[in-house]
Amino acid sequence: MKTNFHTHTMRCNHAMGTEWDYVSSAIKQGVDILGFSDHAPFPDKDYGLRMQYDELDEYIECIDKLSKEFGGIIKLHKGLEIEYQRIYLDYYKELFEKHKLEYLALGEHIYLNESGKLRNIFFAETTNDYVSYALAVSEALETGFFAFVAHPDLMFINELAWDKNCDKACEIILLAAEKYDVPLEFNANGLRRGESLYPDGKRYPYPHFRFWERLRGSRQKVIIGSDSHIPEQIYDESMLRSEELCADLNLNVIKSIFEEDL
Ligand SMILES: [Zn+2]
Ligand SMILES: [Zn+2]
Repeated sequence: MKTNFHTHTMRCNHAMGTEWDYVSSAIKQGVDILGFSDHAPFPDKDYGLRMQYDELDEYIECIDKLSKEFGGIIKLHKGLEIEYQRIYLDYYKELFEKHKLEYLALGEHIYLNESGKLRNIFFAETTNDYVSYALAVSEALETGFFAFVAHPDLMFINELAWDKNCDKACEIILLAAEKYDVPLEFNANGLRRGESLYPDGKRYPYPHFRFWERLRGSRQKVIIGSDSHIPEQIYDESMLRSEELCADLNLNVIKSIFEEDL
């Protein structure tokens, strides 16, 4: 069974293709279940690289329509990739209750640090920021709103040497995922970014081997996500490579975040 729960659309302004294009590409690539998780808007503020709040209803209606049209061939799920901040607890609830979303993927690109300052994990200054990021992820999982953690090892995109804060950040995220029983995503888009030289050796920005090695043989649920920003990426070579890498690591890969799919 081929599945993917991490799919963007042109609504976020840095991906190509409409919802229809992604469904059509997924069908061509033999995908059985496709989850849409475009970058979520927030009602009060535009944090950038995401759809506008007034586009949200149209996005949802569009997926509903495609679901009816292609339901016999492919199963669609409607979700969003979204950051956590405690001021949005009511909003997350509203996304499920009013907007009838089926899942939220935690994509913690921006996060609040311990001093309450908003930070972007793509621009970490020191590995202390990794720990702050991990604490934000942990607090998010405690709320129970998130179906999986998208690229939980995203912080390693920064060119900082490995130190004890890196171990600590990995530990915080892994412990939270275990405690709240939330799957972690092995992100194929990190592989698409290619290998390059970092202070801790030649590697992908993410997935980072030192993070995933800790899960070798464990029962922690892992889901492979395409993080497609182009329709052709839905189940491309990077997805197949991710399957191989997860198998090599002996990870507990699950195919769906919904029990009724399995
Ligand atoms: Zn994106
Ligand atoms: Zn994404």
